[in-house]
Amino acid sequence: MTQLAGTLYILSAPSGAGKTSLVKALLEQDPQLVVSVSHTTRARRPGEVGGQDYNFVSMDAFNELIEQGQFLEYAEVFGNKYGTSQQWVREQLAAGQDVILEIDWQGAEQVRRLMPEAVTVFILPPSRAALRERLTNRGQDSDAIIAGRMSAAVSEMSHYPEYDYLVINDRFEVALDQLASLFKARRLRQEVQQQLQAELLSELLSER
Ligand code: GDP
Ligand code: ADP
Ligand code: 5GP
Repeated sequence: MTQLAGTLYILSAPSGAGKTSLVKALLEQDPQLVVSVSHTTRARRPGEVGGQDYNFVSMDAFNELIEQGQFLEYAEVFGNKYGTSQQWVREQLAAGQDVILEIDWQGAEQVRRLMPEAVTVFILPPSRAALRERLTNRGQDSDAIIAGRMSAAVSEMSHYPEYDYLVINDRFEVALDQLASLFKARRLRQEVQQQLQAELLSELLSER
């Protein structure tokens, strides 16, 4: 059987918009989806697990990975470096998995250039006040870090027109349903169905 290539999804959002929570919920309900675990030089937050939330590495180790050409993309966000493993993403796609990258707009720009077939989604909060409240309620960053992320949010959000889809994360369940619908609809594309339904199509079109 020919291998079905999965779809690459890029999700971007200002910090605190709910990207990580939405992706976690999506993975629980859709076995065909996987998320790329980025490398980062940022300090681990309480509750975060190395290898699961991020691969936490030193700046030296990160620079070494850049030199080895291990990253599909990398960028500096809020003074820390973040990067996506090239090999893992390509392997997953080749195996037919749909892959989500939770990356910032700079990373999205790099991946779009390399893989123009990627489907890009921007997630927005319902208001500025809600964003500040979510960053505060998450309770994992200091006031100074939250203030920095709030001021960076406007410049991150100004990139929304570069994305294919826009989802407002007001009511969590609604945003989740909208994202799940997008993934499901993309699997109904004719070229995808042609591979999934090859046997049926050949039977339907045979003369005998
Ligand atoms: P959170 O989004 O508030 O939970 O904060 P994080 O520290 O998890 O992420 C910080 C920023 O880095 C966000 O804008 C992410 O989209 C971005 N980011 C995370 N992983 C990657 C990556 O592998 N590559 C790139 N380019 N950006 C990333
Ligand atoms: P991001 O990964 O984009 O930084 P998170 O997923 O960590 O965002 O969400 C930030 C905070 O907002 C978390 O505490 C999360 O539980 C909360 N949150 C996410 N979506 C919603 C929503 N629709 N309504 C209220 N709170 C939300
Ligand atoms: P946090 O430090 O709060 O986990 O993430 C902050 C930002 O970094 C998020 O907006 C997230 O999208 C971005 N980010 C996380 N991993 C990567 C990555 O691998 N590449 C890029 N470009 N951005 C990332």
